[in-house]
Formats: sequence, structure tokens, C-alpha cells
Amino acid sequence: MSNTNFALAVEDLTVSFDGFKAIDNLTLYIDKNELRVIIGPNGAGKTTLLDLICGKTKASGGSIKFKNEELTALDEHIRVRRGIGRKFQTPSIYENLSVFQNLEVSFPSGRSVFGALGFKCTDEVKARVQVVAEEIGLAEVLDKEAGLLSHGQKQWLEIGMLLMQEPELLMLDEPIAGMSARERELTADLLQRICKNRSVIVIEHDMEFVKQIAHKVTVMHQGKILAEGSMETVQADPKVIDVYLGH
Ligand code: ADP
Repeated sequence: MSNTNFALAVEDLTVSFDGFKAIDNLTLYIDKNELRVIIGPNGAGKTTLLDLICGKTKASGGSIKFKNEELTALDEHIRVRRGIGRKFQTPSIYENLSVFQNLEVSFPSGRSVFGALGFKCTDEVKARVQVVAEEIGLAEVLDKEAGLLSHGQKQWLEIGMLLMQEPELLMLDEPIAGMSARERELTADLLQRICKNRSVIVIEHDMEFVKQIAHKVTVMHQGKILAEGSMETVQADPKVIDVYLGH
């Protein structure tokens, strides 16, 4: 039975691809303001789980509730409006636009990047861009062309574009891939700031980074949850060492 205090309640979730259960009767609860990290070997079902939560993939069985509202049958774009944000590994920023414009076009009712020339940016949008730019550490480079940003800055900009839509659950797939040590540190700080008023789910392989950011760790294996708890607890679990950390 669902505990109504959770932000996200995934219960008995199942999805099959040609008879193969990529997610197998999985139950997972995420608290408000929690930063959960999902780890596990390749093929464990981590990406598929996030695809199911954001609606990119439809479940074969089970339920996904967000803030006590059933999401399972809703399309991906409706889930975005309900507060679910998902960032994929490859950045999808507009390289020819400035940082400001990238954030501006991500405002839910903002102008379309393909048209509406001459549209005046409203004070509300400007104020929101400023808040988000400060949150992602790009307030000093608002006029810079996005294509000229560093790899880390591009990743933060994409997170900012999601934050413009005011998600209450943000899901990130390997957010520090390709980043320098300094960019990793800044990303850890950013994630800590983000989860102060949102829930965050991160898929990550870098165990040092996981230790640094995770409130709680979920270990997946063969479409199921193998272990869950603090990093210390799951690290010491013989099942986890056997299928993942021991390799
Ligand atoms: P992880 O992210 O943990 O590496 P995935 O969620 O990508 O794992 O994949 C879990 C399993 O589901 C893998 O065996 C993968 O090949 C399979 N799978 C994922 N998506 C599809 C799909 N669209 N069609 C068929 N098989 C898929």
C-alpha cells in the first residue's frame, strides 16, 4: 500500500521487451527533497526505470504515483507539466543562442525558438531566468553563446533549462560524465542546492561521487532492487559486492 508522504511511489512496476522483463515487479519510494542515486551493472534496468517514470516508455504493469496522483497512463508531455523533469546524457542545448535565450525559451509559456521574432521577454520570464542562472552558476555568462561554454557549463545549462519548467522531481543520467574534477565538485554542490526544494534521482557509476551526493542508494540488478540504504550499508552488502562493486 502507498505511503502518501512520498513524493514518488512506484509500485509493482513491470515492463517487458519481447518477453524479456527489463523491469520486474519493482517497488520504489522517493521522499520529498530526497537525492536518491541508482547504481547497478550495465543492463540492470536503471535507464528503463527512468524512462518509465518520465513516460518515454509505457509500463506493462504496476503503478507510478507522483504527489499521490497516478501517472502511469499519462503521456510524457503531460508528466512534464505535472512536475517531472528528465535530463539525458547528451546535452540538447541551442548552441547558437545565448545562455539567457536558452533559459528563456525553456520557460513553459515562453516564445518558441522557431518563431515569434520581436516578442518581448516579460519581466516574469526575465526574473525566472535570473533565479535559475544563479542556481546553476551561470549568472555571469548570460550573454555568452551556449556553444562556447565548457562541457560542464553546457550540462548545467541543460539542468537550468529543466529548472525553468519548475519540476518537483528531476532525473539525471550520469550528470558528471566527461567533467573535470572542479566541474564534478560544482555539480555536487548544484545537486545539493536543487534537492533543497525538489526530489532528485541520479543514475551514477562513479562511486566517489555517489558517496558525496546520495541521501540513499538503490542498487538494481536484472530489473529488480538488489539492495537499498545508505552508501555504507549497500557497499558492505555481499550481494552488491558480488554483482557490482566487486568487479
Ligand atoms: P541500464 O541503464 O541499467 O544499463 P537499461 O535500462 O538500459 O539498463 O536496459 C535494461 C535491459 O533492457 C537491457 O537488457 C536492455 O538491452 C533492455 N532494453 C532496454 N530498452 C529496450 C528496448 N527498447 N527494447 C528491447 N530491450 C530493451
